Amino acid sequence: MKYKIVNINDTGVRSVLIIYTGGTFGMIQDASGSLAPFNFGKVVDRVPELRQLDIKLTVISFPKPIDSSNIGIQDWKDMSYIIEENYAQYDAFVILHGTDTMAYSASMLSYMLEGLNKPIIFTGAQMPIGSIRSDARENLIAALEIASAHNNGNPIISEVCVYFNYLLLRGSRSQKLRSSTFAAFESENYPVLAEAGIEIEFNYAALKPHDENAQLNVINNLDANVTILKIFPGITEHSVKSILSDPQIKGVVLESFGSGNTMNFDWFIDCLIKAIEGGKIILNVSQCIGGEVEQGRYETSKKLNEIGVLSGGDITTEAAVTKMMFLLGSVEDVNEVKKKLTYSLAGEMDMMEE
Ligand code: ASP
Repeated sequence: MKYKIVNINDTGVRSVLIIYTGGTFGMIQDASGSLAPFNFGKVVDRVPELRQLDIKLTVISFPKPIDSSNIGIQDWKDMSYIIEENYAQYDAFVILHGTDTMAYSASMLSYMLEGLNKPIIFTGAQMPIGSIRSDARENLIAALEIASAHNNGNPIISEVCVYFNYLLLRGSRSQKLRSSTFAAFESENYPVLAEAGIEIEFNYAALKPHDENAQLNVINNLDANVTILKIFPGITEHSVKSILSDPQIKGVVLESFGSGNTMNFDWFIDCLIKAIEGGKIILNVSQCIGGEVEQGRYETSKKLNEIGVLSGGDITTEAAVTKMMFLLGSVEDVNEVKKKLTYSLAGEMDMMEE
């Protein structure tokens, strides 16, 4: 693929590569009035402050910037390829990405970039950079400051994060919760990693520790044959069956109620048993934003333990579905996939077992 590269600053204490994938950040209205992505060259003109930062800055742009609703496996491979190719030359990476699926991409990259010890900061905007009240400028400049922050020559951040509206969050814990305010992202089950006020206050206790000996190993075998079954009161047997009987599907994220409960009607449990016997892996994740799955706490989740549904603990749906794609693509042994689903690979859940 042909990437467009723009050098913004040639000198600076730290070097950061901005990877521009698209999103509202750089959109303008097309002839019909809809927002569509445009080239980053023009975006730089909108943020002249970038040239004043004491950071060596380069932008690499997807040839055709996209709305993140169109993000898929190939885009994750492209992002990780760009990072791998440029890993030695840059101290940090900022990925400009649409907000709609940013939490999925941040989760996926945190699995794909094994041995990461440099900052990868996803950011974007709720309003295009050309709008007077846009949040784009603040988000980008603070993300660059965080990406270039260091202690004794080592980066303060050594993991994949989302920076948005003054908050730095662990990428694999983040979720887009709001579409109409600037405070779009939260990580309900994990503390905020940093808050940008007059100073950037890092929450050192919550950060992944820096390991200077870590070696980046990009794993990019992914398998898209996964699905999400979100239950609701009144869901029919027909609809559950139609999802669980798809022969292509290897992994199912079961979005349950509260602390991991589902209806315990015979037909529902039978559908799950058939799917598991047919070789599908089922991971139980709560529909609630905070809290965790505790299979067996209620009568309505006890059966799930017995039939082999795996507990996803406090993982988000975004981190769960991408983790399944990652493990099904990169790990051959199904028992190993199941085991890895129940403990943390990249800080996406509380460590449960090893
Ligand atoms: N639809 C846009 C996207 O995700 C929304 C945004 O960037 O905020 O690309």
